Amino acid sequence: MNAGIPMVPQADPGAAYRAQKEAIDAAVARALGSGWYILGKEGEAFEREYGAWLGRNAGGAPMTAVGCANGTDALVLILRGLGIGEGSTVVTVSHTAVATVAAIEMAGATPLLVDIDPEHYTMDPDELVAVLEDPPPGLPPIRAVIAVHLYGQACDLDPMLAACERNGVVLIEDVAQAHGGRLDGRMLGTMGRAAAFSLYPTKNLAALGDGGVLATGDEALAKRIAAIRQYGWHERYISAEVGVNSRLDELQAAILRVRLPLLDAGNARRRVIADAYDAALAGGPIAPPARRAGVEHVFHQYVLRSADRTAVQARLKSQGVGTGIHYPMPVHLQPAYKGRAALGPAACAETARAALEVFSLPMYPELTDAQVEQVCGALKGLAG
Ligand SMILES: *Cc1c(COP(=O)(O)O)cnc(C)c1O
Repeated sequence: MNAGIPMVPQADPGAAYRAQKEAIDAAVARALGSGWYILGKEGEAFEREYGAWLGRNAGGAPMTAVGCANGTDALVLILRGLGIGEGSTVVTVSHTAVATVAAIEMAGATPLLVDIDPEHYTMDPDELVAVLEDPPPGLPPIRAVIAVHLYGQACDLDPMLAACERNGVVLIEDVAQAHGGRLDGRMLGTMGRAAAFSLYPTKNLAALGDGGVLATGDEALAKRIAAIRQYGWHERYISAEVGVNSRLDELQAAILRVRLPLLDAGNARRRVIADAYDAALAGGPIAPPARRAGVEHVFHQYVLRSADRTAVQARLKSQGVGTGIHYPMPVHLQPAYKGRAALGPAACAETARAALEVFSLPMYPELTDAQVEQVCGALKGLAG
């Protein structure tokens, strides 16, 4: 790194806290002073506010939100609430946070991993149709699909929804990276049977610790899941069914209530930064990320790809630009899954290629104009 050039970190969750310190500190003090720390008034208010912010599902039913301990658990709770576990296969992608696949196994189900469309890095709907219509032999029946809206961009959801409908399979949305994103004006998380959101500190809507929330337009399902998240209690101390412990605490809920009203503006700021990066890359050797038609992207990550990734990352670093890799190893090639995870007919070839080439630029609303300019200057330098 050149002496005197300050580093622009790829992620900076502390910057968001510092920008919102007064409001967050007040919310934390309020929660601490309340004398009630788990599943209380703050959590209930956050669930109400989050459900209202999501609006209605495709059928016009209001969304009901249920807080839980993290985004992985949000997926597990949805699967459990739907009775999808042992004896079921769940289809998803290998190009995702390992959490998506871990959740399927935590619920007791069998993951089946299909490939991505290499332009948008999301599930290839044609391969999904192929596995739904002609499932690989030896697997339990396919009961659900987890559609991952990766990097803040909607996956190609409509053909996936149609294929699920035709085959009697439930579609669950993993919106851990795309809170507030839209597809043809429809809010992500409102189109499947239920949706899971992570509130991890670097996500677009972030707690200052672990947190998760799930949402569905099916109120009975939400009630069932709310019971499962706390030992299966419908009534205090009486387990009506087998449950788990996965609760959102009052401190995190109070912090999230400060941040939810700021989320849309934060996403808009991410788009402004993405537009600036796009312009800086124009005409250079690296193409800006493809944006799917009809999508309102919320740029959880701004992801580029290069066959010469290590050298490009080093050049950017020398200009004070931090980068990350999301993700360096596809789930199906990781030691815990290799040779064990079932794959679709494409054997996740595009997924394996993408993992060798993708890298992510700094992206968060608190990036200053000067930091954005510094990144843009470094990107323009790649052309020379
Ligand atoms: C972050 C993430 C999760 C899991 O969230 P945690 O809160 O870390 O459990 C699941 N899916 C995707 C796509 C994610 O990015």
